[in-house]
Amino acid sequence: MTLPHPMQSLAERFVQSQNANDELDACARAVRKHACVRTEAAGATNLLAMAKAKGISIEHRNDCAFEGMIERDASGAACIVLRSTLNRTRERFTLAHELGHWVLQEELLEPIAGRLFRGLSTSRSETKVEERLASLIAAELLMPMEPVRSQFDPNNMMASLHSICKTFRVSRTAAIRRLADVTDQSFLLLQVVPFRFRDFDTAAHIDDAIYATARRGTFFDRERTRIAPAVPFRKTLERSVRLRITNPAKGVVDSVFESDFRDSPIPHVFLLTRPNYRSAR
Ligand SMILES: [Zn+2]
Repeated sequence: MTLPHPMQSLAERFVQSQNANDELDACARAVRKHACVRTEAAGATNLLAMAKAKGISIEHRNDCAFEGMIERDASGAACIVLRSTLNRTRERFTLAHELGHWVLQEELLEPIAGRLFRGLSTSRSETKVEERLASLIAAELLMPMEPVRSQFDPNNMMASLHSICKTFRVSRTAAIRRLADVTDQSFLLLQVVPFRFRDFDTAAHIDDAIYATARRGTFFDRERTRIAPAVPFRKTLERSVRLRITNPAKGVVDSVFESDFRDSPIPHVFLLTRPNYRSAR
């Protein structure tokens, strides 16, 4: 094993440890190595089976300060602690994230048996990187890169998005973030409603705006995202619709959106595009 260069970042060490091209590739390789039990749909990992196979115990605690954490005892044995009040979806994501920490520890720490586990990160900026990598590994466990990539049809993005949500049992937000990462593209997903309830001739009003960018944090900004010029809600029902969207942080997006109408619980439309950002004028 080569000694890490002191200035080499945690992320670089991880990529190098997997002989990978980039972080996504490193996550896929590390998961392939450890998550031998891929019994779920389209190659997603059965998390409980993985924990069991790796001798990681799982405990639920009421008083857990975090939604989840991973502990090692003096012998190096791992225990993932989950807060017992999480809902099922949240618990699944939290477990995947803690397994992400476990994978990083296995791959990057020197043998730890016989001494007290000391943690991976040595500074606050490293902690941030470790959190990001743990989440990226969690995404690979829940939505493996290759099947997600192959489910993406650039000519039918909305259908791709919904099939990813269904196949991998994840939220639309989780799916769009993952799609941005594995396709290396940006997406803008809007949810709009009629300004006046059930009156489709009133203006389309932004109810949710998710700006997903590959390898970067997802930006949520329903408050400051506008359709300008305004259009009646009815217009957004067309299967593809050209809209001009403004946001003070992201600039102007003038693109064709794919549209998907839902009648319940209240009438709303999902709009999805690959935006070309221009700075605001
Ligand atoms: Zn974490």
